[in-house]
Amino acid sequence: MDKKINAKLKENNYKLTEQREAVLEVMMDNRGKHLSAEEVLQEARRKLPNIGMATVYRTLEKLASMNILYKTMFEGGKFRYELSDDESHRHHHIVCLKCGKIYEVEEDLLNGLEKKLENRGFEIVDHELKFYGYCPECRNSSTK
Ligand SMILES: [Zn+2]
Ligand SMILES: [Zn+2]
Ligand SMILES: [Zn+2]
Repeated sequence: MDKKINAKLKENNYKLTEQREAVLEVMMDNRGKHLSAEEVLQEARRKLPNIGMATVYRTLEKLASMNILYKTMFEGGKFRYELSDDESHRHHHIVCLKCGKIYEVEEDLLNGLEKKLENRGFEIVDHELKFYGYCPECRNSSTK
């Protein structure tokens, strides 16, 4: 188990039951991927066939509230979860409209904008931004 994750679990007094551990393991096995609760359930059932949706969902929410996972809203208001990379600010995403793959966006130009808003008296806590388009693979495979 990851040291940082362990520390966060301890800090929050969150005991890993067999079921919670299965959920966390699925997320660690899928580092860098963005999974819906249904996908996590499917994977977790390979380890624990009896695990239920409510448990998976509750565990994901709890892990997200501890910042062990990031939770982002994607297509149709559906949430997806990914393992946190422990930055102070979560990264942004670009979603391919054809294959549905989600890519990370490392660049962030919004910090300058946040400064401007703060100059106008706002206190900015976070921002969210999503790009939609077609990924290089889909663009190459489509015959134009
Ligand atoms: Zn694509
Ligand atoms: Zn991501
Ligand atoms: Zn940003």
